[in-house]
Amino acid sequence: MSDDTSIHAGSCRCGQVQLKVRGKPLMTMACHCTGCQKMTASAFSLSALYPLDAVEVHGLEPVIGGMHGDLHHNFCPHCLSWIFTRGKMFGPMINVRATMLDNAAELAPFIETCTDEKLPWATTPAVHSYNKFPPMEAFAQLMQEYAMADA
Ligand SMILES: [Zn+2]
Ligand SMILES: [Zn+2]
Repeated sequence: MSDDTSIHAGSCRCGQVQLKVRGKPLMTMACHCTGCQKMTASAFSLSALYPLDAVEVHGLEPVIGGMHGDLHHNFCPHCLSWIFTRGKMFGPMINVRATMLDNAAELAPFIETCTDEKLPWATTPAVHSYNKFPPMEAFAQLMQEYAMADA
């Protein structure tokens, strides 16, 4: 585990939901699935996975958008930016949209997922690519590898 305790700030497009994250994320990801393409209006979503207790959300209360199912896609109620995702599959973790954070440039995706669905010209610098999602068992190893990487 990283002993990085630096604090980074973040916000939605309008700034009325603010984030504060502590330390290095557990993992950074790009997801190429068509759902992420639609929700981001772009080629892929970028995210940074944090332990729940490393993230503070302030300001307006986020609203649920996206799937309205097991995954809770949280949006700013005013500007409707997609800010973070929670859900059973994330356990005690929260998946923050990397582009909300002031250090997004440092959060290059370490893995990319759902490349089966990716736009043919979309590329990322991810070290590991998965045509769907990595198996849950692979995550511990991936997080360890990411923790050791300098990026
Ligand atoms: Zn907003
Ligand atoms: Zn996706």
